[in-house]
Amino acid sequence: MNEKIKTILGDITKQNVDAIVNAANTSLLGGGGVDGAIHRAAGPELLAECRTLNGCRTGEAKITKGYKLPAKYVIHTPGPVWHGGSKNEPQLLASCYRSCLTLAVENGCKTVDFPSISTGVYHFPLEKASVIAINTIADFLKAHPEIEQVRMVCFDEKTKVHYDRAIAALEG
Ligand code: ADP
Repeated sequence: MNEKIKTILGDITKQNVDAIVNAANTSLLGGGGVDGAIHRAAGPELLAECRTLNGCRTGEAKITKGYKLPAKYVIHTPGPVWHGGSKNEPQLLASCYRSCLTLAVENGCKTVDFPSISTGVYHFPLEKASVIAINTIADFLKAHPEIEQVRMVCFDEKTKVHYDRAIAALEG
């Protein structure tokens, strides 16, 4: 078991970590789901900073301050919309996790919380997404010991079960 990767059941907007990740859309101008919750909790200054960023490509990431959030930074990444799996969705999802963690390292973040990127309205199958996420995070951490903790903040029990299973599968 990788002791730096954990899951919790909870609301990512409440987490007191160096950076939380936002499952954004390519406009970076807010949306529903976790994106809407993060913008509501952070306040209007977050949207104002996002307007200066000129959007973000799927699989890439951009960082802002956290404003009224307990987290110091928000790392925004547009996940892939699931179109059946032949549109590079797995590679793009892995790239989201890598891009976010790269920005975290560049900004001195040691604790990073992720939501379950793409498994809400973007309909990426949870079983596949959880394995990709956990394997990508584990690979990144091998090369970057300066990151102390990465958590998947799961909004419901079913999501948590899948990420827990993917973590348990890392060993063997
Ligand atoms: P996407 O468009 O990438 O699919 P969604 O926001 O629709 O993003 O869903 C991604 C995941 O985030 C889903 O598992 C959803 O239940 C979860 N989620 C929604 N609100 C929150 C929140 N406040 N904290 C953590 N996770 C959340």
